[in-house]
Amino acid sequence: MNLRHPSRRTLREWLDTGGPASLDEHIGTCLRCAGRVEDLAEPSPAMGELLSQVLAPPVDLVPRLSDGINSKLRDRADLRLLGGMLGLPIETTRLIVREPPSD
Ligand SMILES: [Zn+2]
Repeated sequence: MNLRHPSRRTLREWLDTGGPASLDEHIGTCLRCAGRVEDLAEPSPAMGELLSQVLAPPVDLVPRLSDGINSKLRDRADLRLLGGMLGLPIETTRLIVREPPSD
């Protein structure tokens, strides 16, 4: 193994072209150079844009979550009101009243 670490420029060339092959063993066994290669291999801006599109949450996520939470809170308030009218704790009311199936 070559004990000298190649320059960033040489590592960039190795990353882009795959050569020179004499660096393969050094990069494969040297944590420092392997880490530098990983840093140099950051996705291009175009790839970053594609990844952000793929990984972005659906545009309607917040309204859907908000609707779901509000619906659950309304159901819970209804149960609490009914339980209060019957003089029962909410958990007992929940056992008696079957909750509607969720979407
Ligand atoms: Zn090295």
